[in-house]
Amino acid sequence: MRKRAQIMVGLAGGIVLLAGWWVYGQFGVMAQAKETKVSGETVKVRLMTDVGKAGSVVEVPKVSRSDKEWAMRLTVEQFRVGRAAGTERAFCGVFNDNHKKGVYFCAGCGLPLFLSADKFDSGTGWPSFFQPFAEENLGEETDSALGMSRTEVQCVRCGMHLGHVFPDGPKPTGLRYCINSAVLSFQEEGLAPEVETILLGAGCFWGVEEAFAKFPGVKSTEVGYAGGWTKSPTYEEVCGHGTGHAEVVKVEYDTKKTSTEKVLEYFFTVHDPTTMNRQGPDVGDQYRSVIFFTRPEQEEVAREVMGKLGRERKFSRPIVTRVDFAGPYMKGEEGHQRYFEKNGGGCRR
Ligand SMILES: [Zn+2]
Repeated sequence: MRKRAQIMVGLAGGIVLLAGWWVYGQFGVMAQAKETKVSGETVKVRLMTDVGKAGSVVEVPKVSRSDKEWAMRLTVEQFRVGRAAGTERAFCGVFNDNHKKGVYFCAGCGLPLFLSADKFDSGTGWPSFFQPFAEENLGEETDSALGMSRTEVQCVRCGMHLGHVFPDGPKPTGLRYCINSAVLSFQEEGLAPEVETILLGAGCFWGVEEAFAKFPGVKSTEVGYAGGWTKSPTYEEVCGHGTGHAEVVKVEYDTKKTSTEKVLEYFFTVHDPTTMNRQGPDVGDQYRSVIFFTRPEQEEVAREVMGKLGRERKFSRPIVTRVDFAGPYMKGEEGHQRYFEKNGGGCRR
């Protein structure tokens, strides 16, 4: 069953690529959207630990993206509901009738939002919960649209509109969080998958792939592009800094032979995480230090590892690596796969 959930997430990712581009074409205003800037704003949230529980409060950067980037990452319906405060039709959302055990997380930024244990059948036609995964993870605002005063709930990290909260829920809280399925992703409870995927940016992807291909427990590696706002970037476009993509290595690892922690600890040894857009002689945003996680638990591990390295003062300057929920990923051209194996040479660093 877990595998099915993983496949669903994978399929959704594929659809995002197509649908997002369609949305982009429909909203003329997006063409003028500015590139996303890192605002420096932070927010306090609780991430999900390995055992599916809320961890302690941590301070993480707010997620800020242009409409152009959101359109690339979200489906048409996700964009309409999540970024334009829309509402899906009652009884039509995919999670209204979902009775599986698991966690619902933000489709925009991967933040855990609700647990199946807190879901109840409200009869309204929308997924309903009597409490959030963590109070810190939701933002609330008064919504006076439609001539009513309601309390809107949003993802506190990325601002995704989720739905509303009403004071007519069941015990013990008496609250009813009325949430749109479209803005949620679901991860079914169970054993962790045998093979996990993570996208890692650490400079020129030729050398990063060479480093990870030989790491014990890694099943496969592939170079590609992630984190940008165009559909099918070429190497030349990415190097031209016009698409926002990072050169990344898609790493698939066997959780019986290694762990997210070990993979990420290794990640911090193969590059300099204190220089955001520079690795040795390579300068540019495509070389940024970035971890794109595909499961909420990976984010918690990533931030733990970074915190530990910081406390141990492993680097003389602060770690600037960005941790972001994986959006569309595009495989790089065949000539860039296993580049050093095919062409000789080695990592320049
Ligand atoms: Zn979010």
